[in-house]
Amino acid sequence: MATSRARAARVKAGINKKIVRQRHRSGNVVEIPVATITGAKAGPTFALIAGMHAGEYAGVLACQKLIQTIDPAKLSGRLIVIPVFSTKAFMWRNMQLSPVDQREVHYYLPGNPEGSYTEFQVDVLWSVIKSANYVIDMHAGEFAQALMPWVPVPMVGPREVQEASKAIAEGFRVEYLELRRSVDRIPRLAAFLSERGIANVWAEIGKNGLPIPEHVSMQYDGAVAAMQTFGMLPGRPPRLPHKWIGSRRYQATADRSGVWYSAVKEGDIVKEGQLLGHLRDYFGEVLQTYTAPFRGIVLYYWSSPAINHRRRPHGYSWHSGLVSLASLAEDESGEDSQGIPSPRRGEGGRRPDEGAGEGRRR
Ligand SMILES: [Zn+2]
Repeated sequence: MATSRARAARVKAGINKKIVRQRHRSGNVVEIPVATITGAKAGPTFALIAGMHAGEYAGVLACQKLIQTIDPAKLSGRLIVIPVFSTKAFMWRNMQLSPVDQREVHYYLPGNPEGSYTEFQVDVLWSVIKSANYVIDMHAGEFAQALMPWVPVPMVGPREVQEASKAIAEGFRVEYLELRRSVDRIPRLAAFLSERGIANVWAEIGKNGLPIPEHVSMQYDGAVAAMQTFGMLPGRPPRLPHKWIGSRRYQATADRSGVWYSAVKEGDIVKEGQLLGHLRDYFGEVLQTYTAPFRGIVLYYWSSPAINHRRRPHGYSWHSGLVSLASLAEDESGEDSQGIPSPRRGEGGRRPDEGAGEGRRR
């Protein structure tokens, strides 16, 4: 495999840009822009995906910049860049969900060519990226989501794949990394790739549907560092000191519709019992008060006051979310000096605070 790729690389260094188009049985067409940069020298294949969710723009702009700036003469191997995966959701500005079938793309890999539009779309994605050795899936906070930059790593699949996934994350200029070990808390796409031997991370960098230049460059630099890590680009990748997210998660979720007043910001470290916010009725009367069940860091909060409890297609509870809180590895016992949770922590099934199915969030 590597030999034939290497031979092809020597022959056809350069860039190929195309729109992959396939018609779903519903009549809706999947359109995925794909740029393939073939390096002058042999090497592995790296795939970058952005725009899975409609309003997560930092990765989209980073991918465009990578397409414009990566020099095939300096590249060893092949870089596949999908700057906008969910083009329909992107153009409709449809937060999180497909505007065609209201499904959450992140949970469907490997997809199904006979399935719903989203399953079909994911099947097309898989056909584009399945030759990759490494993948970065670039996410961010949606329009209504104020998110702290961090990079979660799926710690499933073969040991060497987990190590390579961790090495991808370690090149990112973010304060926090997260090693996620429980397979039912990992988005299906990330877990599937790891199980298939494709090292990957999903980078959560960007917020509120804003193309903030610093977030774009954090995504861009993280991708370049990852390619340097595996010898695909010249230069030594940065290795910045990181802190580690712990194994506990809590999502405050509204059980009725209302007007949300958050009392916290993304990146805040809150104490156990600290106020997270109030849900109020149309007249401003408090319907419900939310507090932190443990000391932790606010990964993101819903910055939109409009909370629609009834918007739950296919059980997906993202639109009822209020605050997402994570514990800090430094607060948990059984950590080693790298902040790596011991294998038994955070595993062994779902806790009551985690919701179910598509309702789980990142
Ligand atoms: Zn996303």
